[in-house]
Amino acid sequence: QRKKIVAGNWKMNGSLAANAALLDGVLEGLGQPACAVVACVPAPYLAQVQARIAGTALALGAQDMSAFASGAYTGEVSAAMLGDFGVAYAIVGHSERRQYHGETDAKVADKALAALAAGITPLVCVGETLAEREAGQTEAVVGRQLAAVLEKLGDQASGMVVAYEPVWAIGTGKTATPEQAQAVHAALRAQLQSAGDAVAAQPILYGGSMNAANAAQLLAQPDIDGGLIGGASLKAADFLAIVSAAN
Ligand code: 13P
Repeated sequence: QRKKIVAGNWKMNGSLAANAALLDGVLEGLGQPACAVVACVPAPYLAQVQARIAGTALALGAQDMSAFASGAYTGEVSAAMLGDFGVAYAIVGHSERRQYHGETDAKVADKALAALAAGITPLVCVGETLAEREAGQTEAVVGRQLAAVLEKLGDQASGMVVAYEPVWAIGTGKTATPEQAQAVHAALRAQLQSAGDAVAAQPILYGGSMNAANAAQLLAQPDIDGGLIGGASLKAADFLAIVSAAN
């Protein structure tokens, strides 16, 4: 039985007041879930969220981090800085970072390695665009993205978690069907298996318009072990419904 993880990615949303209300709602209904539950929050709010979730089952995550340890990298946030605020997970290689901030497969791999060095679990995102899917390239694209990370991490790869996020499903309301997602997850699992049993035993998350209505069907697939939730993580009731579906 693989561990399940439900992680909210707040993206660039929130304010002190909005975060407080959202956390109140989530924590009120969260209890002690069987799965890991994570909130990946904008960096300025790490201290706020850390203080609010102390003693609860909600874990803290970041949405990105620097590949560098410290030094002259203006605007960057290091893994050690995240660790200072109790961050346990960091998304790396989100398609929005790849698309708008020029992150390459090699950069994503460097970030995953830096996360592990600081004791942070990297949530490594892979996913194809619509054009790539229509060209029959889905498995080649996600395979290439994952291979770069596996190669860089070597025997540390058992510390990472992969998230499959088809770019065409993100924020579009167009979810991959359970069968479409399962097919890609199975391919990713096989690729992880080639790096060893411990690597393949890690959860693989699905992300892309996952919501309260479709989560159960997606999570019922044999290789879908959780979710990376954007829009629906901003509404406490919706997020909690997805957590329930994973439990
Ligand atoms: P949505 O759930 O809003 O489609 O976003 C998914 C995502 O990108 C999570 O990282």
